Amino acid sequence: MTEVSVAKNDVAATDELVVLKSVNKHFGALHVLQDIDLTIARGEVVVVIGPSGSGKSTLCRTINRLETIDSGTISIDGKPLPQEGKALARLRADVGMVFQSFNLFAHKTVLENVTLGQIKVRKADRKQAEEKARGLLDRVGVAAQADKYPAQLSGGQQQRVAIARALAMDPKVMLFDEPTSALDPEMINEVLEVMQQLARDGMTMIVVTHEMGFARSAANRVVFMADGRIVEEAAPDQFFSNPRSDRAKDFLSKIL
Ligand code: ADP
Ligand code: MG
Repeated sequence: MTEVSVAKNDVAATDELVVLKSVNKHFGALHVLQDIDLTIARGEVVVVIGPSGSGKSTLCRTINRLETIDSGTISIDGKPLPQEGKALARLRADVGMVFQSFNLFAHKTVLENVTLGQIKVRKADRKQAEEKARGLLDRVGVAAQADKYPAQLSGGQQQRVAIARALAMDPKVMLFDEPTSALDPEMINEVLEVMQQLARDGMTMIVVTHEMGFARSAANRVVFMADGRIVEEAAPDQFFSNPRSDRAKDFLSKIL
């Protein structure tokens, strides 16, 4: 099950960055994550797909401890997830997260959005933080928007700022939870292209998405979830052309 494909990013299969072992979580009576075992190698790009309500967002949120787990273990770069306090803040900074709904600070400029965490969490000085922020905004193609407020930007631009903001913390892994689902169709590609580039640059990424083109071209591995379980995982070519489980066949027949 946990075979790691060594395709696009030349991933070293032995270098485990994110490791979940027997993770279980309930919301009341709902067993939302059931015995999740998942290992992600440094530099690997894993796309998580599955029906709505299958636990994909909850999985992401447990990895940066926005949600607690009931049992099992999660470790990042060999360190178990701390429960609270400064260690948790540092750990969170190692895990960049990009949400469907951008979540930028509305009353801060684009530049401030990308400098704030660097100054507060990473204790960078303002000048260095701004320099780095401008470099990242340039990298995601929104350098000209640095002094604007989020509401003055298009959705695609806001999402690219959100990516720059996460990258500013030098994360070890980036989590994307349906980053293009709230975007108008013409803006989806500009965000996917930034993500593609990030993947090519060797970033370790966990991406929940319905963009199967992205999965095919960027993912080393597709993880298919249903009802709180990992039902199937495979290289994208294999998964899309020859899904093994009925759940995956059924899901793919509805979306492709
Ligand atoms: P997905 O992202 O795959 O659509 P989620 O992880 O968001 O799935 O949700 C999985 C299940 O857990 C859903 O049934 C959802 O209603 C439920 N759920 C998610 N968050 C909470 C919460 N905070 N409290 C109670 N139930 C929740
Ligand atoms: Mg979700």
